[in-house]
Amino acid sequence: MKAAIFKGPYELLVDEYNLPKLDKKQVLIKVDVCGLCGTDFHIYSGEAPSNPPIIPGHEFVGTIIDLDSSVEGLSVGDHVAIDPNIYCGECYYCRHGKINFCTSLKALGVTLNGGFAEYSIAPSSQVYKLPKDLPFASAAFAEPLSCCIHGMDIASIKLGESVGIIGGGTIGLMMLQLVKIAGAGKIILIEPIKSKRETAALLGADFTFDPHSEYMNDRISELTSGGLDVVIECVGKSEAANLALKLTKKGGRIIVFGLSEKKDTMTINMQNFFHKELEIKGSLLNPFTFSRSIELLSTKKVNAESLNPVQFKLDNLSNILRSPRDFSVIKYQVSPN
Ligand SMILES: [Zn+2]
Ligand SMILES: [Zn+2]
Repeated sequence: MKAAIFKGPYELLVDEYNLPKLDKKQVLIKVDVCGLCGTDFHIYSGEAPSNPPIIPGHEFVGTIIDLDSSVEGLSVGDHVAIDPNIYCGECYYCRHGKINFCTSLKALGVTLNGGFAEYSIAPSSQVYKLPKDLPFASAAFAEPLSCCIHGMDIASIKLGESVGIIGGGTIGLMMLQLVKIAGAGKIILIEPIKSKRETAALLGADFTFDPHSEYMNDRISELTSGGLDVVIECVGKSEAANLALKLTKKGGRIIVFGLSEKKDTMTINMQNFFHKELEIKGSLLNPFTFSRSIELLSTKKVNAESLNPVQFKLDNLSNILRSPRDFSVIKYQVSPN
């Protein structure tokens, strides 16, 4: 089969790859769509840990075409989404129910072969059945959405709270929809690209701002009686995290969601932190949220179609990863077959 093979920083090759035979509890999937994620760019540049040579791609969906006889509850022909994160079940964190901190975490498309290929093999524990009327292009958002749901669980937004979202990419625009479902009051999305702000407005943002606009901070302060109750940082950059610190009200909460580069730091004035009683939390991966994610996509409570994924063939993957990123595209998806 054809697969994209990551061999090390800035080295990705689309080549023939021989699939091994199915092992116990494994499923063979014909990949329909695999989303390209910010993390893939970080893996490509060596900023995120990986285990080359591997086939990247951790946001994939497709059809089961074969499965080992030991697999229960799944059948050939099922449409499925894959939760790429495989926890060991034995380490300190797994035994304390904090599986996303697993010290032996493996992930399909990160440390094990994933979905930038015509076919992919996954352990049945990672495979989730999809309703057949959910288009694959929408279902491929199940993985990033499951991570957003974990972030939302951490944010525990109360009805009527004002929420700011920094970043209007895939994550920001899905967070926006979740924040709306959660019953937030004013929802404010901050994003430099106009077309993304327009999408945010369509999806229910009450106000959108270009972070470069002169009076943004004052205007947000006016709209929210001095600051936002919750700010969700969905960019992964120092500037965005530092902006979150400025925009949050006394007693407010910040969720640092975006994956930053290794060098990025947040600068906190200690007195400010003290007087504001700020709460700052990170959000890592998607512990126990995958089924809920599929539920929100299937019931169309989260609208994935409006994120307008742009699909391309496997052969173009290295080109996209190599070229300067076109940030006006909300989501790229590879359709390998
Ligand atoms: Zn991802
Ligand atoms: Zn573990």
